[in-house]
Amino acid sequence: MTKAAPDLSAAQSRIQAIYSPELLETASQTLSELLTNHARTLQLETTNVLNWAHPADNFKAALQQLNQAPMNDAGERDITQTVDAFRQLAQTMLDKGHNLQNPRYIGHQVPASLPLAGLFEAIVSVTNQVMAVYEMGPWATAVELALIESLGREIGYAPGTFAGLVTHGGSLANLTGLLAARNLKCPDLWSQGPQAKLDAVPVILVSSDAHYSVTRSAGILGIGADNIIKVPLDERRKMNPAALQQLIFSCQAENKTIIAVVACACATPIGAFDPLNDIADLCEQHDLWLHVDAAHGGPTCFSERHKHLTAGLHRADSVVFDAHKMMFMPALCAFLFYKNKAHQFSAFQQQAAYLFDPSAPEIAEYDIGLRTIECTKRANCYALWGIWSLFGKSLFSDLVDITFTTARTFYNLLQQASDFEPVHEPECNIVVFRYQAEWLNALSREQQNLFHFKLRRQLIESGEFYIVHSVINEQAAFRITVMNPLTTEVHLNQLLNTIRHRASELQKTFDAPPLVDHCEQT
Ligand SMILES: *Cc1c(COP(=O)(O)O)cnc(C)c1O
Repeated sequence: MTKAAPDLSAAQSRIQAIYSPELLETASQTLSELLTNHARTLQLETTNVLNWAHPADNFKAALQQLNQAPMNDAGERDITQTVDAFRQLAQTMLDKGHNLQNPRYIGHQVPASLPLAGLFEAIVSVTNQVMAVYEMGPWATAVELALIESLGREIGYAPGTFAGLVTHGGSLANLTGLLAARNLKCPDLWSQGPQAKLDAVPVILVSSDAHYSVTRSAGILGIGADNIIKVPLDERRKMNPAALQQLIFSCQAENKTIIAVVACACATPIGAFDPLNDIADLCEQHDLWLHVDAAHGGPTCFSERHKHLTAGLHRADSVVFDAHKMMFMPALCAFLFYKNKAHQFSAFQQQAAYLFDPSAPEIAEYDIGLRTIECTKRANCYALWGIWSLFGKSLFSDLVDITFTTARTFYNLLQQASDFEPVHEPECNIVVFRYQAEWLNALSREQQNLFHFKLRRQLIESGEFYIVHSVINEQAAFRITVMNPLTTEVHLNQLLNTIRHRASELQKTFDAPPLVDHCEQT
């Protein structure tokens, strides 16, 4: 007998206790109670939006917990004891988190996700549904393909002609779509890397307001971040097609290979939608790959009132579309579509003998891992499939219609107020605005900018509202995105009053050194 045997059997019985269905039953009842209470308080709006703590303090607290003796280290793990400790930890997570479902969260483009979507997600996590090849996640694959088929048709792609995939976020979807485009234009780069002989310098023509993940993609793909050419915008911050045409001509004259043209629907700074049909005309004329980043605005295609904003989306060779923005989903569930289904295999060439089975080649169509950066991939479509099946797709047009209208209402409030100014007329649910009291206007631009940054910081740390800042034409501003359909005019009026109140407090102590800051939006 080895010495380890008795220890191992003790370990086995400890482990067995943790897998016990009775423990799961009691813990999930506890969790259900905690989540319900949490949701109730959020709707009563008595809680802070952000539970602010200094990052170093939060880090210390989290580390301290790990370094303490386990909360339930009894030799025989007792269910009641374990569930008590589980309750405490779960409550800590709820208490320390960010309350995105509070209607006064109007900050980043992250939704007040549907609690029921989270429950479907729990099935994924509790039973660990993953995918790479079909047999690893048969239902996960089926659900994903069904959503690609249905969403692709909403975009306007012809049935049977397009393909898509789901990935962990819009940034990865941008990278994947641009990789497919790069491989088509520079086929040797994949295998030969820097030794590949390129006929010309590769470039990407990109809306000046495109998301930073596009520039990062150029760096990652060996195209070079400096070979991003920014296409000028018009006065509404939409890509200017005449400027695009000029740039296409000059690239041709300078013998540059245009890997892709990247347009936005919408861009994040003020939510401007590029004129996709005009851009698609140019791309067709010059045989260029059109990639449309519709991570935020894609779901306008569900809305009769707003689908004109994405007219022409179906002409794009690749489209990025986040369900974890304007489709109620918790992070992450991002789609990448290819107009031509043959392109779905352009991004990657790989061999992994143990994954892909030559005895069943027709099943490879269903092996999602052939198309994604991820190998093991979380089954991240259960929630969307569940919610769409439960409530139908009109739910998504409701979200677009309600939030866009609320943003418009906010714009009207800003226009009526003498001490606020909207920076633009909103096309969607993003609104950028400035505080414009007379005393503030008398200060330098640096001081006005610093004032906006300081005020926002105080506001979010107070937990009253969560909004973000932005810098448009070198002027700092506040930026809201109405993601929650339960956010109303009442909240937005409160926001303005809260800013006014905080501004008059801040005015008393305001003394501004110069400042440099800039922030990318999510
Ligand atoms: C949010 C967003 C992204 C990034 O997507 P993630 O899912 O956050 O990685 C890219 N482009 C646009 C236009 C976005 O709104």
